[in-house]
Amino acid sequence: MTKIWKCSLCGRYTLSSERCPSCGGRVKNPHPPNINLQDKYINAIVRLRRDMRWKQA
Ligand SMILES: [Zn+2]
Repeated sequence: MTKIWKCSLCGRYTLSSERCPSCGGRVKNPHPPNINLQDKYINAIVRLRRDMRWKQA
């Protein structure tokens, strides 16, 4: 899987993880891990398990 990086200076996308080929600026990951989405997912599982326990009782 090829990673695409984004220049933090000019906003240009590049395949180079070192420097932007256009302006030489630093590149960053344009898609950081979404922690909020993970939290929602975990909360949904916890709620589901709680509901199951209520039904059993
Ligand atoms: Zn750049």
